[in-house]
Amino acid sequence: MANGEDYRDYMDKEYLGSWDFRPGEEKTVTIKAVEQCEVFEQNTNKKKKMPKITFYENVKPIVANNKNSKMIIAVTGIGNVKEWNGQKITLRVEKDRASGKLVDCIRVSPDKPKSGKVAEGPPSIPPCGDCGGEITGVGDYTAEQVAAVNFKRYGVALCADCGNKRKEEKKENVDT
Ligand SMILES: [Zn+2]
Repeated sequence: MANGEDYRDYMDKEYLGSWDFRPGEEKTVTIKAVEQCEVFEQNTNKKKKMPKITFYENVKPIVANNKNSKMIIAVTGIGNVKEWNGQKITLRVEKDRASGKLVDCIRVSPDKPKSGKVAEGPPSIPPCGDCGGEITGVGDYTAEQVAAVNFKRYGVALCADCGNKRKEEKKENVDT
């Protein structure tokens, strides 16, 4: 996070920069969405369309170059960017060559975050509190999100079906 120690903290920076990291710091973030953005390329003096990746955490988005995009595919095992939602990656600062100079760049770490893939195995997602069945993703929501939303509403992690049943019950109670 910008901590006011670097002069660039005082500029209007839309994207995460190497100066947002303390020395040696790594940020593990959860991908929210991939959008298209236009960035100004200094080498060519032209605007270039690039993928912008936003996160659920309070961390500014990054512009993903080829290197980082390929690393996300390698770490998550998912080539379809529409399925990156909910995937965790770790960001860190590395020295890299740009126009012949060594500069600080934000890189996606090849190390997979421990709570990595949401879809893999049961660990982080408990079974449904009503039917005891597996909580799975629905539509745009990952299994983790379905569990979390129902937990927030009803105080217990539920599968989508049981969540809907509770919703209906609530409605009936209100009506009568
Ligand atoms: Zn259920």
